[in-house]
Amino acid sequence: MQTVQRIIKSYRRRRVIVCALVALFVFVLTLIFRFISERNLNHHRVSAFTHHAVYTLERLMLPLVAARNELMPLVGTPCNDIHPQLRELAASLQTVRSIALIRSGTLYCSSIFGQRDVPIHQLHPDLPVSVPIMMLTTDQSLLKNRPILIMWSPTQDDGRSGVMIAVNIELLSNLMLEPQVPLITSVSLSVHGKHLVEGKGVIDSLPPLANEKRYQRTSTLFPFTISVTGPGASRLALQHLPSQLPLALMLGLLSGVIAWFATASRMSFSREINLGLNGHEFELFCQPLLNAHSRECVGVEILLRWFNPRQGWISPEVFIPIAEEQHLIAPLTRYVVNETQRQLSLFPNDPDFHIGMNAAPSHLRHGELLNDLTQLWFNKHPTQQLTIELTERDALQDVEAAMVHELRRKGAKIAIDDFGTGNSSLSWLEKLHPDILKIDKSFTGAIGTDAVNSTVTDMIIALGKRLNIELVAEGVETTQQAHYLRQQGVQTLQGYLFAAPMPVKDFPAWLAGRTSPPSERHNEHVAPLMP
Ligand code: C2E
Ligand code: CA
Ligand code: CA
Repeated sequence: MQTVQRIIKSYRRRRVIVCALVALFVFVLTLIFRFISERNLNHHRVSAFTHHAVYTLERLMLPLVAARNELMPLVGTPCNDIHPQLRELAASLQTVRSIALIRSGTLYCSSIFGQRDVPIHQLHPDLPVSVPIMMLTTDQSLLKNRPILIMWSPTQDDGRSGVMIAVNIELLSNLMLEPQVPLITSVSLSVHGKHLVEGKGVIDSLPPLANEKRYQRTSTLFPFTISVTGPGASRLALQHLPSQLPLALMLGLLSGVIAWFATASRMSFSREINLGLNGHEFELFCQPLLNAHSRECVGVEILLRWFNPRQGWISPEVFIPIAEEQHLIAPLTRYVVNETQRQLSLFPNDPDFHIGMNAAPSHLRHGELLNDLTQLWFNKHPTQQLTIELTERDALQDVEAAMVHELRRKGAKIAIDDFGTGNSSLSWLEKLHPDILKIDKSFTGAIGTDAVNSTVTDMIIALGKRLNIELVAEGVETTQQAHYLRQQGVQTLQGYLFAAPMPVKDFPAWLAGRTSPPSERHNEHVAPLMP
């Protein structure tokens, strides 16, 4: 059985699932986003680091080139003449350890030692060469085995004479090659197949990579390369991911909450009702009302039916209370009035024929029902008698009572539906002076079985008679009930005993088929034809 709770619960469950998925999506997206931005930042940091190292070294080397250019024409000049200039130059270039002049393969003048006579290949086996080169090596003269960077510039084509500048690269490397843990765990300067690694001195080959990544940048001005190794931008970003969890969780939760509010109207039963109205999923049924004595059909009550293609048949007992709660009852009633008006030709063209429509008291507010009925019903001047059935769910406000009087002035009859089941019955009687009291099917069903409720039935009937209000009993299912009600003076009967609610288009055939009033032979319950 469909219950309001079950339907609302299923909508809530779906909404919770959607919101949880949104939260999860945002959570994962935040982590991915943070991972990518952290990885890019790491890339950028490594690139900036190598760029800075290359740039710094280039800036330090450029004055050496100027010094070398200055000295090149002076190779061959006697050492005594040139030595003061050499010393001055070496002193002015802070990074330079020594400047030496080589003539025909012999180092004959050094900024530190002055005049010398040492074959250059004894100090550096790779020298002299005919092309300018830079090389990393270790000092063999002054500071033994300390790394130095040699800049060799030959002056002649045979390459046996030239200028040799030794750079104090160890000092530089302490400044430039300092790693930045954890991103950069080691830095090296590679020149001509040799590598100066911070803390390891000059080595022949770079240490093999153990689960690490290497980034390199080569100078465009000088033949050297700066290499850095580290865990890699991605791995480091991944290691940092747990620190992003609080942010991801917060954003996930926030978007879940936003989704919860955003889906309030979209993923609700009220949206389903709106879709149903737009898709014409509602159908009008009608149930005949019979004169208790003549059994003549004196009218119908219009009852809404909803076949929802997504959920199947939904009982009005389910959707009407929700529609009332969600302020959707007015559009539903407008739909009923409009459709009934459109299909009026299916009912007898008789001013005594009653067409009963259910309306919610909340629709009376601000004159809304009055406006709607004026526009959709009274202005079309139908022949049949309109009866508005009001269910007493809440206490009636004075302004609503005024609207009811206005409705009656316009020609509608007022029935109090389900009379006796609410808690304001008597005040309603006093305020509305209704034309009709509808005895609820629960009281009809109690006739002959339930002593307390059948007493209430008798009291309602007595009240109606006393106040001269017409009585209609709904839910008449047995001949015994019909007989009793007729005897008590109830003028109109409605129930499965005579006819179950039927699609309005079937009503003419039902009416035509009733050549004689239905017998009251059967005492048993009659099953409804439709849901
Ligand atoms: P109601 O106005 O009291 O309508 C009578 C209900 O009793 C209908 O249920 C009808 O099908 C059912 N009924 C008729 N004869 C018998 C019978 O012999 N035995 C039994 N057990 N039941 C019988 P339904 O159509 O399911 O409607 C339920 C309620 O939904 C209605 O109660 C009414 O309050 C509301 N409703 C239905 N259509 C509309 C509508 O268009 N507008 C509004 N505002 N409410 C509606
Ligand atoms: Ca009714
Ligand atoms: Ca009822």
